[in-house]
Amino acid sequence: MARIGIAGAGVLGRLLAWRLSRAGHSVTVFDPAAGPAAPSTGHLHPGAPYAAGFTAAGMLSPMAELDNAGPVVARLGWRSLALWREVADTLRAEGNTVQLFAQHGSLMLAHGSDLGAARRVLARLGTAPSFAAELPAPQPLDRAELAALEPVLAPGLHAWLLGGEAQVMPRDMLQAMAAHAPRVHWRWGERVERVLPGVLHVAGEGPVHVDLAVDVRGVGARPDLALRGVRGEVIWLHAPGVTLQRPVRLLHPRHRVYIVPRPGDLFVVGASEIESEDRSPVSLRSAVELMAAAHSVIPELAEARIVHMEANLRPALPDNEPHIQAEPGLLRINGLFRHGWLLAPALVQDALETVGLPPAPLRGFPPPVPEGGHRLWPGQARSTAVLDDNLSHAHPC
Ligand SMILES: Cc1cc2nc3c(=O)[nH]c(=O)nc-3n(C[C@H](O)[C@H](O)[C@H](O)COP(=O)(O)OP(=O)(O)OC[C@H]3O[C@@H](n4cnc5c(N)ncnc54)[C@H](O)[C@@H]3O)c2cc1C
Repeated sequence: MARIGIAGAGVLGRLLAWRLSRAGHSVTVFDPAAGPAAPSTGHLHPGAPYAAGFTAAGMLSPMAELDNAGPVVARLGWRSLALWREVADTLRAEGNTVQLFAQHGSLMLAHGSDLGAARRVLARLGTAPSFAAELPAPQPLDRAELAALEPVLAPGLHAWLLGGEAQVMPRDMLQAMAAHAPRVHWRWGERVERVLPGVLHVAGEGPVHVDLAVDVRGVGARPDLALRGVRGEVIWLHAPGVTLQRPVRLLHPRHRVYIVPRPGDLFVVGASEIESEDRSPVSLRSAVELMAAAHSVIPELAEARIVHMEANLRPALPDNEPHIQAEPGLLRINGLFRHGWLLAPALVQDALETVGLPPAPLRGFPPPVPEGGHRLWPGQARSTAVLDDNLSHAHPC
């Protein structure tokens, strides 16, 4: 049994704590947040910094993300789909009753006037290096097929099904991972100032010595890492009677807008991507653009109620790629940028194997069968090439 100290209780911190405590290790997690739940969901959110994971839409889109990420992200993401499903199934078997995960594929959509831009994106997906060839190809849908799949979508949209893509319910998943790791010592309201091999420097307390110090503080890991925050804004709509089975993403020359259905007749519309560390409330421009795009895709959203808006910062390293840094007594994982939910389980698995703490097997559920997908990715077992790609060294400031 190792003594492990984790700085940060976001997506990575909670997943690591849950997995390591199940493996019998003694785990303590420090986070300045007041507790495990999401901050209260007012209409606007001027509050103190908190995990980007709460704000995220929770799309698990390895293929769609090839539009603006490299094959490493796609490959890790494709592995993570099966891992999130296992996590959700295990949490359900342990008594969680809330829906945490759904896998019905996703749709890429384009209005006729934007077909040229959409085709350029699809061409990029098709020609992305090496790994892309092994992903299910986007499957074009004709008008009748689209209407059968998602009757609520505006007629006349061009559509492609990305089989196998999925979503998590971020707030519920974050809470469930904390609630089902009771042996973890959660130290809420405590900030870690530095993370060094075998030691976490806790504000107001001083050094806490451990066998392995883990730094997953997201944007809060400065100055140890050369991070920047990238602002993202989302809007929650409540629309009883409007039914959407799967996330949809609108291809547009200027915006990448997605609509993600959530339990309780909720829809998350997102997200802006702005090179700014401004955490102030959602701007009028972003709100108008996101909601106009959503309405153009689902006209029935006209009567939806705007129940929440939120802005947060995605943690990004200079190359926008995820990085694992492992050395004796120290593990850092960061730079998950716009793909943190997509990448976390595969990165955690690779990182724990790297530091000699392979995670205990989950319940051993069979791998998912992608709905509408043409084939399963053959490398669901972990790939050392991906690991090597990501075992780069942290960016010093
Ligand atoms: C608008 C938006 C939409 C997104 N949509 C998606 C999506 O659809 N799919 C997807 O895969 N990803 C999405 N993301 C990205 C995803 O949320 C992030 O990549 C992910 O949350 C990063 O996980 P993390 O654990 O590294 O950091 P975080 O989730 O940010 O967690 C970091 C934690 O560290 C804590 N912390 C900070 N400083 C300290 C300190 N000094 N000491 C101790 N703890 C500290 C914080 O309080 C926080 O709890 C989105 C992000 C945003 C903002």
